Parts: sequence; structure tokens; C-alpha cells
Amino acid sequence: MSLVHLLIRQARLQPDAPAVLRGTAVWASHRQWADRSAALASHLRAGGLVPGDRVLIFMHNHPRYLELLWGVWWAGATVLPVNAKLHPREVAWIAGNASARWAFVSADMAPAALPGVLHQVDIDSAAADSLLQPRLPWQQVPVAERAPEDLAWLFYTSGTTGRPKGVMITQRNLMTMGLTYAVDVDTVQAVDNMVYAAPMSHGCGLYAIPHLMAGARHVVPASGGVDPAELFALGRALGPLTTFAAPTIVKRLIDHAESMGLSPDDAAASFKTIVYGGAPMYAADIQRALRVMGPRFVQIYGQGETPMVATALQRHHLQDHAHPQHAQRLASVGVAQTPVQVRVADSQGQPLPSGTVGEVLVKGDTVMAGYWADPVATAAAIKDGWLFTGDMGVLDNSGFLTLKDRSKDLLISGGSNIYPREVEEVLLTAPGVAEVAVVGAADAEWGEVVVAFVVLQADAAWDTTALDRHCLEHLARFKRPKRYLQVPALPKNNYGKVLKTELRQRLTLAGDEVLTSRGRGFNAVGERAG
Ligand code: AMP
Repeated sequence: MSLVHLLIRQARLQPDAPAVLRGTAVWASHRQWADRSAALASHLRAGGLVPGDRVLIFMHNHPRYLELLWGVWWAGATVLPVNAKLHPREVAWIAGNASARWAFVSADMAPAALPGVLHQVDIDSAAADSLLQPRLPWQQVPVAERAPEDLAWLFYTSGTTGRPKGVMITQRNLMTMGLTYAVDVDTVQAVDNMVYAAPMSHGCGLYAIPHLMAGARHVVPASGGVDPAELFALGRALGPLTTFAAPTIVKRLIDHAESMGLSPDDAAASFKTIVYGGAPMYAADIQRALRVMGPRFVQIYGQGETPMVATALQRHHLQDHAHPQHAQRLASVGVAQTPVQVRVADSQGQPLPSGTVGEVLVKGDTVMAGYWADPVATAAAIKDGWLFTGDMGVLDNSGFLTLKDRSKDLLISGGSNIYPREVEEVLLTAPGVAEVAVVGAADAEWGEVVVAFVVLQADAAWDTTALDRHCLEHLARFKRPKRYLQVPALPKNNYGKVLKTELRQRLTLAGDEVLTSRGRGFNAVGERAG
């Protein structure tokens, strides 16, 4: 088994069809892609690389990303894509932890030399050109076959708490993820255009697999990132795009469509499907997204440890307005994807009845082999084949999963559990609120109290009495925030996830002095008396 055969299949079927584009310009046909990946495999082998070795990739989105991924697999090695926004010191730590032998880097971002790496190649150099320059047709370069359990991708977690861990993703994991896409997320055809606006080092890059399975086109925007105007124009030029986007990116697309006065038909001309996930999408936000851009959204829930595959909320679920549970379903992450079982369990892993909140567990062929060189963390994460996700959630009778929060984000105030997400959902429906994050602050009397960090819409006025009144109308009294802090923006990691740890640190560092005064990033503060 090797993911390389997906490329070979297309190189035979439609060798000259445009496969990889940079903006609207063709970068490679399937044959050229296969020739270049095969050339790279030959060079890597000649340079001493053996199957199973790790090859680090630290670069911005680029058409070469795809040639590198398949070239490394052609040689039987494991790819180690690293988020392009990481600090060089973090990359050096990952290279050392994974004992990477080769590294392909953008010279402007990487440290001069990564520890332990024998061959470090600047991706924009003549040396890289030469490594990818075909000398033989791909048919003459043997593929290093792999077993389904062999590692294909070593993915380092974002490490918002502590050191990142290397998630071991196998050939089977990725093959299953790719096949599942067509069943649970979206149908793909050769005329489709998968656009890589989010980082290719993460989930977005993995979607190259289902799109290669269908022989679709792979498009890297000229900017390499998320520029809504560029993406809308690219879709109009090439045909509707498919993309994967974190909720913050979806918001930027919607803001753009609204500010340009685009209709859902205009959106349909530019986008076929927007798969969203990776962080909570609040009900109010997806309703707005559907209103502005029409029925082109699908939600997935997964994590590095079961990449892109745990549950999906499909297009037809989002559109089924007549269903009596439609509102609840909009706020859910959908139902288990086909190759996995999803369970909500107590701390012992025992299944809980539907309607009861517990930890979300996932079992199936997309679940990682374990953490790299960390048997203790592996044993804590996978028990009896069940992956303990660390997410809290609740299943309904039809199998729809609603996520509450990461277990570490749960707050306990006066002995009662409060799920920040529930408070966030309510605050987001208050007039003038653009974004919100709720965390717990230590409190002598209550143990923890609810604090809401609020980003206002551009022209909105700060009115904590109105926010409090809104919460009282929609929430149990004990769940409403004791403090509201206005912030210009929420801290987010490179994948757009809100860094609640940082918000909690701000509260600890700031103490009461800043909580009741202006300054240090807090524009204004409101504290409720009782
Ligand atoms: P990562 O491993 O970096 O992809 O992060 C995975 C985590 O992101 C999950 O464990 C969830 O906490 C969160 N997440 C992923 N997808 C969703 C989603 N659709 N809705 C809410 N949270 C999500």
C-alpha cells in the first residue's frame, strides 16, 4: 500500500490534464507531478534516505508542497510538515524530537541549520530545482511499498499546553480519510478545484488525498494564503472552488461577500464547497454564512489524532430547515463519519446514555498509531482502541454530537459545571458582539467565576448592562459572566483557535487592578456588582 499509487493512477488516466495550479497558471500536469516526485525519490534514496526516515517540510503554501509530499512517499519515507508560522526554535525542537534526516525549508523562515538534519534544502534554490528535475519518466522509478500500518505523516500538535507531541499517522489512516471524504463530506469530480488557502501543513493539505483520488485540480493561490478577494476571483476564473477553512476564515469570506454586496449566486460562482472545522462554529455564525453564501458548507470535526474524521454535519443537515431539531443540529458537529464509532463516555471510558455530557471517544481506521516516542502519552490517549479526544460532548438519540468544550476549558462555579461554549453562543447573539471567548477566573467565594472577553463590531457601543440583560434572558443566572472585558481582538494560534490559556494568563497576570481599570489591551471593562 502506498498513497503514491493515487498519483500513478491519475498519471496514467489523465497524464496531461492540469493537476497543480499556482493562481490561474498551470504548474504541473499529473505526469509532470509524478515525474518530479519520482525524481525526488531517486535523489533522496541516493542521498541515503531509507524507508521510514522523516523528511521535514517547513515552508509556506506552494505547489511544490504536493511534489514533496508524494516524492517523500515514493521513497517510502514519512513526511513531517511543520506549520510555517512556528518560531525557528520550535521547528528546531521538532526536527530534533523526530530525528528528521532531510528538511525542505523556505530559507527566509528556517534557522541556519536544523539539529540532526543531514540535508537541509532551500526550497527556492537551484539545488531544490535539481532534486525535482526529472531524469527518467516516473514509470522507471520503483515505488517503495509500505504496509498499511507504516507511518506516512508525522503531525505535531499545536501544543497550546506544553510541548507539541508527534502524532503518528499511517498510510491506512490517510487512505481511509480520503475515501471517507466522498461518503461523508462531499462528492469530488475531476473538474473540481481544491484550493489551499489554509496551511498545507495541517488539515487543508490532507485534502489533497481525496482530491487526487478523484483526479481533481489542486490550486495554490498566488498569495499562498487567505485573501478573500483573491479567492472569489480565482473561483470565477477557474470554476467553483472547494476549500477547508477554520471558522475565522469563513468569517472573513462572509465579511468580504457582505461588504462587496455579493449575492449567494455570486458565492456559488466562486465556491462549490467550504468545509469548516478545527474550532467551534457558533450557530449564529453558520446561520449568517448560509444566508450570505448559500448552501455550500459542510462541517467536520476531527483532531490531529484522527485527522479530519470524527463527525460531519453535511450540507443536507444544514439545509433541513423543516426538521424539528434543526436549530440544535446547526449547533452540533453532526454524526459519526462512516469509518469510525463515536462514543460519549465517563472517565473510565464507559458509554453514557444519550443526553449526558462526557468525554468524546473515537475508534476506527483513522485513529493514529500513537504519539512519536511517547508511550506514556499514547497509553493515556488510546485505551482499548478508543481515542480519548479531550473534548466534552453530548450525543442525541439520532447520533448528532454537540461539543461542549475541551475538558480543560470546563468551569466549575459554586459547584456547578458551566460550559463556556454555551455562554459564548448566547453572547454572540447580543447586538454589536463580533467575537467572544469565555473563561474561568479563580474566585475565593465561587471557586471560579465566568469572565467574557468580547470583541465588538466596528460601530457598536460598549454596554455591559445590555450584555448582562441579554444573558439573563437566555441563560440560567449562575452561568452569566461576572465580568465583561472588551478586547480589540482575541488571541489565536496559527490555525485560528482561540488561545484560552493566554486569556486565563492575562487574568492571572492582570489581577483585579486591570480588571477594573482601562489599559493593557483591555479597552474598557465592565464588572457586575452581584
Ligand atoms: P487539532 O488537533 O489541532 O486539529 O485540534 C483538534 C481540536 O479542535 C479538537 O479536539 C476540538 O477541540 C477542536 N475542533 C475540531 N473540529 C471542531 C469543530 N468542528 N467544532 C468545534 N471544535 C472543533
